[in-house]
Amino acid sequence: MSTPKDYVLEVEDLGVSFDGFKAVDGFNFYLDANTVHVIIGPNGAGKTTVLDLICGKTKATSGSVKFKGKEMRGMREYRIVRAGIGRKFQNPSIYENLTVLENLEISHPAGRGIFGCLLFRRTPAIQQQIESTAAQIGLQDKLDTEAGILSHGQKQWLEIGMLLMQEPEIIMLDEPVAGMSVRERIETAALIRRISANRSVIVIEHDMEFVREIADRVTVMHLGQILSEGSMEKVSADPKVIEVYIGH
Ligand code: ADP
Ligand code: MG
Repeated sequence: MSTPKDYVLEVEDLGVSFDGFKAVDGFNFYLDANTVHVIIGPNGAGKTTVLDLICGKTKATSGSVKFKGKEMRGMREYRIVRAGIGRKFQNPSIYENLTVLENLEISHPAGRGIFGCLLFRRTPAIQQQIESTAAQIGLQDKLDTEAGILSHGQKQWLEIGMLLMQEPEIIMLDEPVAGMSVRERIETAALIRRISANRSVIVIEHDMEFVREIADRVTVMHLGQILSEGSMEKVSADPKVIEVYIGH
């Protein structure tokens, strides 16, 4: 049986308990191709835990996570990455003493592992991919710059670029503009829109202005559950959402 709609990711009845406390409970989430889907909600709502469950960092106690129809729940984290789901954590894990180019280069799947590193040759195709990735993240003029001297925002973009080198079909970003300047936020919004042209992006964010800029779809979480879902226009007019945000 085929589903009426082909989602990139179908999350159903996902849940996890920590010592009896349900951090995520009965979570349903359907991700369309080439969209930016933002998850919002008060602190402690369970947003980060949802990403941990999808990427296999935390083991779910119930439910399923289907990526292009294939069950991911129970798979090891690195296998989920290789299947095509990339996750950016809050602190960038770039190599500060390597250049932007080198950081992108070592993120290419062909450079993976000891043998990968030894045998790795920068083919014209990989060079081309590095350049187009650098352009997508706005660092095309910084290829020879040491990553350590980039601004905070540029380091975040570089890490997104390192994920892009693996050509994931889904990228998950947890509070990507935290600590950024106003200008960097504007550029990050454009960057997210750009990269969603040929993949889906799940973003966790607090800043409503920013959400309005980037979101195709919004899921509002509260106390581990879904409070509201739909367009930004729809959820921001939802009395349940207004109550939670005024309550906080
Ligand atoms: P959010 O990202 O929405 O702020 P989190 O997903 O980080 O919320 O946390 C949701 C709830 O689950 C919080 O009450 C948090 O303390 C709890 N929690 C998250 N991870 C763990 C864990 N590994 N062990 C115990 N409790 C956790
Ligand atoms: Mg969080």
